Amino acid sequence: MASLEQSVLQPAYPSIQKLQAYPAGKPLDEFKREYGVEDVIKLASNENPIGCSPHVTLAITKELAELFRYPDANSHYLKQALADYHELPMEYFTLGNGSEEIINLIGRCFVSHNDSVVFGQYSFIAYPLVTASQGATPIEIPAKNYGIDLDGMLNKIKNNSSVKVVFIANPNNPTGTLLTSEKLDEFLQQVPQSVLVVLDEAYVDYEPSCDNQHLIQKYENLIILRTFSKAYGLAGLRVGYSISNPQIGDIFNRVRQPFNVNKLAQSAAIAALADQDFINKVRDSNLSQREWLYNQIDALGLNYIKSHTNFILLQVNDATKMDQLLLQQGIIIRSMEEYGLNEWIRVTIGTEDENIRFIDTLTELLNHTDF
Ligand SMILES: *Cc1c(COP(=O)(O)O)cnc(C)c1O
Repeated sequence: MASLEQSVLQPAYPSIQKLQAYPAGKPLDEFKREYGVEDVIKLASNENPIGCSPHVTLAITKELAELFRYPDANSHYLKQALADYHELPMEYFTLGNGSEEIINLIGRCFVSHNDSVVFGQYSFIAYPLVTASQGATPIEIPAKNYGIDLDGMLNKIKNNSSVKVVFIANPNNPTGTLLTSEKLDEFLQQVPQSVLVVLDEAYVDYEPSCDNQHLIQKYENLIILRTFSKAYGLAGLRVGYSISNPQIGDIFNRVRQPFNVNKLAQSAAIAALADQDFINKVRDSNLSQREWLYNQIDALGLNYIKSHTNFILLQVNDATKMDQLLLQQGIIIRSMEEYGLNEWIRVTIGTEDENIRFIDTLTELLNHTDF
């Protein structure tokens, strides 16, 4: 008899065999028990430490009596709100269960195992993952000053006709670097129409000057990604969207699950979008906390990359060791070892209290351990 591995566990595509499950972090309560720490702060996933707009809570409460109904498969009112906000027709928007769902849709809709996918070294981990899950060939372009090298990308694209999609996070995660609109425009002018360019603007709300939606009208092969997970503070509800030529949206709509964005997420996103005062407050707070952190880090004599986001990439010599030491003190940050940045950690900018505690703990560790 054939073993399970030889029968039902045989994946339909060889590319699935090579994939690994996402390494989920421990639930916070488990973590507290294991490390024996009560007061834990999480500065690991670039969530908004302030939370979300109070209007969101109200909007969600109103939905609770209707949870037995399916959500609107077309997210009509949310699309209308987005259309007003961006001053674009509703057909330009596709909603996703987080923008990560749209990254996956891009893979499913446009990338086959014969294609190549281009992305930057030290960029968002979802890009190599979706490439691998499609069995496509990854082309990683070496970073330039820790940022994305558009010339390097262009070179590869022009010399390799198998390139189907290019992913650019701007500002970039995990380095926090920014490409100007002018640079991106120049780049897009030279990219062949047959290549899809995905501009992932997950952190744009922290840096409104890098808004590139005007490029959508100019380039039909451009997809812009936005999310409610970061500045809007709705990471737990999972809602993100793309802005693209409606013909691209039409293809997404053929493949996506009809009820991919749940009822609470739709109403929360509408309320969150309407409260731009909250977003302005979030941006101001992030900006002043970021300046404060820069000063403290400078005083410690550590190196960091200037950030256009709500996190800072910080050089600490031994990232894995620092990660462990901070964990023991109840502070969760992200070691960048998985990106090959063995000396760097990524720290989300927290509330004032959280940042003070992070800096105090870091100072203590640097003074009392070998670094
Ligand atoms: C956090 C992040 C996202 C957002 O993912 P969601 O699925 O919308 O939560 C997308 N792209 C980048 C670069 C990110 O850092």
